[in-house]
This record gives sequence, C-alpha cells and structure tokens, in this order.
Amino acid sequence: MENNLAVLKYGGSSISTFDKIRKVAAYLQKRVSKKEKLVVVVSAMGDTTDHLLENVARVTDHPNQEDLAMLLTTGEQQSIAYLSMALKQLGVQAKSLTGYQAGIQTVGHHLKSKIASIADQRFLDLLTTNEIIIVAGFQGFNEYGELTTLGRGGSDTTAAAIASILECPCEIYTDVDGIYSTDPRLYPKAQQLSQISAGEMMEMASLGAGVLESRSVEVAFNNDIPLYIGKTLSNEKGTWIVPDDEMLERKAVTGVAVDDDVIQVVLSYPTTDFKLLNDLFNLLDESEINIDMISQIDDENYLQFSFTAKHNDKIQINALTGVLKETYQDLEIVLNENFVKLSVIGAGMRDMHGVASKVFRTLIENDISFSQVTTSEISITFLIDHENNQKATEILCETFNL
Ligand code: ADP
Ligand code: ASP
Ligand code: MG
Repeated sequence: MENNLAVLKYGGSSISTFDKIRKVAAYLQKRVSKKEKLVVVVSAMGDTTDHLLENVARVTDHPNQEDLAMLLTTGEQQSIAYLSMALKQLGVQAKSLTGYQAGIQTVGHHLKSKIASIADQRFLDLLTTNEIIIVAGFQGFNEYGELTTLGRGGSDTTAAAIASILECPCEIYTDVDGIYSTDPRLYPKAQQLSQISAGEMMEMASLGAGVLESRSVEVAFNNDIPLYIGKTLSNEKGTWIVPDDEMLERKAVTGVAVDDDVIQVVLSYPTTDFKLLNDLFNLLDESEINIDMISQIDDENYLQFSFTAKHNDKIQINALTGVLKETYQDLEIVLNENFVKLSVIGAGMRDMHGVASKVFRTLIENDISFSQVTTSEISITFLIDHENNQKATEILCETFNL
C-alpha cells in the first residue's frame, strides 16, 4: 500500500464538543496538505453511547440485542457526519462511511461481534478521489444484513482492522498522551512508557487497562501493523507498541491494570455431580459469556465452583443460573459485585524469579486480602475488595517503581 497512508482513530472524549470536532478537522487538514491520505475512525461524541443505553430503560427492561445494536450505531453515525461537514468546510475532500457502507462484515452476537472481513477495494477506490475517508467505529453488519456492534470500546478494533487490510500504521488518539504504567486517573504519579511490547499491551488491555480495546492490539500485532497511542491535538510524544523482540528494555513489572467491570459467581451444590458443570459451560457458551479466574473445591459430597465474568453480562448470567436451578433445585448461587481484578504485568516475569512473592508480600504487609488468584506467563491477577483498589494500585506501583 502507499506509504503516505495512515489510519487515525479519535475516541469519544476527543470529539465530545463541536469545537473539538472543528479542531480535529483543522489538524487533519494540515496532515492531508502534506500529501497524506487518511482513513479516520471515530467513536460517538463524549458519553453518547452511555446516554443511548440509559434511555433504553425508559422503554423496556428486556431490550432485544438487534434493537440495541441498531440504537448504539447511531452515536458513531452522528460523529462521521459532523466530522465530514467540518472537513468540507475547510475544503478537504472527505467521504463518510457507516460500518455497513465500509463493508465491515461481522460474526457473533449483535453486541459482541467480531470483524470477519472488510471491503478493502471500496477504500482503495474512494481514496483515489478523496483525501480522507471517515469511518464509523464500533459497528458492522452480519450475514443477515443486520447492524452489529463490536463491544464497548470497539472503535479501536475498527481502526486496527482497517489499518491491517490497508497495510498501514494505526494512530489512536485519546485523552492521555500514551500508555502509562497504570491508569493515571487512579495513580497520578504513574509513568508514561515510550514503548511497550505487544504481548504486555495485550495482557494489560485484556486485564482491564481501558486505554485500548484488547482485540485492537491483537489485530494490529497479528498483521504486523505499527500501533501508536497519543493525545489528541497535542505535540507530546506518545507510546509505540512494538513487537516483543524489539523491546529495548525488559522490566520485571511494566504495569498494573485494574478491572472493575467484574462479577464473581459462586455455585455451591451438595453433591459432586459434574453434569452440573457441563450444563453450566454449555449455557455459558450459548450466551457467549467469557469467564476467567475459575476455581473449584470438591470433596466427597460437596462441590463449590466459582468464576468471574464481565459485570456487563450480569443479566445473562442471572438468566442462565435461573435455568440451571430448574434442574438442580439444591443449587446455591451467589453473585459478588464488590470485587475488582488487580493485575501486575511484566514480560520480565518469564525469566526473573521472585516477582510473585514480592507481590504477595506487598499485599499481605499492607493488609490487602485477596480471594482468588490466577497467573499467566507474564501476569499475576488478584480479586480484591473494591475499597482497596486505589491503595493496592499505589503500593504496587511504589514497590516496582512504576
Ligand atoms: P477513548 O474515548 O479515547 O477511547 P478511553 O476512555 O477508552 O478513551 O481510554 C483512555 C483512558 O484510559 C484514559 O483517560 C485513562 O484514564 C484510561 N487508562 C486506563 N489504563 C491506562 C493506562 N495504563 N495508560 C493510560 N491510560 C489508561
Ligand atoms: N462508542 C462506543 C463505546 O462507547 C465505542 C467506542 O467508544 O469505541 O463503547
Ligand atoms: Mg476507548
């Protein structure tokens, strides 16, 4: 592909007012005046998506998924129209496309879809006659022609996927000037990273660092696409996400991620009938609910099984546990909503020992109890009380100089 092509993405806070939209348009005009061609992916303005969701309760308490997707896609559709108008006002040749028009075909549930393919020829054709193509993030359509969304924060993935098919860099612009060791809103002394390995970024994102949607990192990484995170309309240098073997320095711990979109489900059943677990997993699969942090205790006549899932899935979890109780009358189910998932991430954990014990010691010495622990090659995750969230983040960042 042409080397003067890039995909840029602007998140909701970057275009939350009309003034910001005009300023972003002026910046884009400068870029195309230097003979660049751009594809610009935008999210819904400000908190539009949240507001659209809040309104649903005024109409129904059982919204249909297809209707929700139809509603939520309107947020991004407004943004592409306004940005296109602002660009044309500046004399820039711009063309706006919804996900449907951009040929973003998806698979899966209406609100958790994954991109299956993108009509790349349409982009190439439009780029010959336009300087900027604006695409509505977060949306696509399924095999039945119904509108779908990619899950919250999904515009990052739209941008990474388009950059992948066009084989060009992807620049994500947001309200922080790059990736920090932890969320700077939780720990203002957090340090900005000039680069982070794709493996660590994927781990941070999937463990709750909301700055990037985790699939966007995966898509860019799998397709060898350079990914950059920077602050909208700022000259500050941001963060490059680089292949794992290109990292200049490998620290034992690179970051701490906090995920408060978590619910713990504990099932207790007075026999060790594994058919129950089989039925549970089938129901979870049918509803496309991802679970993690699984633990199980069983003795001769008792089974306790717990897992965590996204808080967003609570309604579906309630529905499926209701189905299970019809068959297993003695089943007790408790949903705990007062936990957060706290993770310590670092590629250096692979070959440096003592990291896990230092993390455990730090938490214990500071009276922070945890109820479940999981590990991967490059991370350790704890379930802790919501009220200890800030304190635990601070002490771990201090311990590891983050
Ligand atoms: P956008 O609307 O642009 O997609 P998001 O709100 O999704 O922006 O992501 C940016 C926010 O991510 C920041 O304001 C910051 O509070 C949060 N964040 C969480 N973890 C991190 C991190 N490790 N580094 C930087 N920002 C982070
Ligand atoms: N507008 C959507 C959301 O709020 C998608 C995005 O911002 O990436 O989740
Ligand atoms: Mg986001």
